[in-house]
Amino acid sequence: MLNLVFLGVQGCGKGTQANILKERFNYEHISTGEMLREHIKNKTAIGLKAEAYLSKGALIPDEDVFELLFNHISEGKSGIVFDGFPRTLVQAQYLEEKIKIDYAIFFELSDEAAIERIVSRRVCQQCQTTYNMLLKPPKNSNQCDVCGGHLESRDDDYEEAIRSRINSFHKQTKPLIEFYKSMDKVIFIDAADSPEKIHKNLSQRINL
Ligand code: AMP
Repeated sequence: MLNLVFLGVQGCGKGTQANILKERFNYEHISTGEMLREHIKNKTAIGLKAEAYLSKGALIPDEDVFELLFNHISEGKSGIVFDGFPRTLVQAQYLEEKIKIDYAIFFELSDEAAIERIVSRRVCQQCQTTYNMLLKPPKNSNQCDVCGGHLESRDDDYEEAIRSRINSFHKQTKPLIEFYKSMDKVIFIDAADSPEKIHKNLSQRINL
């Protein structure tokens, strides 16, 4: 199995694609954002520290991300999709030292399309399944198809925080494309397509 890094502006569908790989091919899905939201919910030390950053849409310090991931990455492991990590050059260098990354997949989407998707995003408060009220609506409004849980917007899905996350993506995360390009590991995928088409395209490109 491969180790993959998923890059792309928020709302580009990284999480959806990672979940498909998890369900169909048993990949491990590591989402630092998801882990942080869990820590915040459980009021752990790292959660209490991270809360203010998340609510503003700012990146948490690199050292805290490394602490968060400490038990999750070890040499020789394979079959991992990293979603939302790395987000800075320092994080990418750290990951490269820890584990062999086969491909960095860059899901390309315009900022406007990303904003439109994020504002229509809803997440199940029980099982974390993500919906899009335009592209992938639940069968019953505000109710999760999987577990019946209540659907809500994420706390950081309001306009100012969305803009701040998009800015930090352009400033801090986009340069990672050059980093992975220099190692010949980047694959560009058009993220404006439907989730099924994107998955098909991705599978062909990396020979899944
Ligand atoms: P996400 O669910 O990937 O959109 O992440 C939500 C928020 O968690 C981000 O806006 C950041 O505040 C924080 N976060 C997640 N991953 C990272 C990371 N790799 N480095 C720094 N902050 C992160």
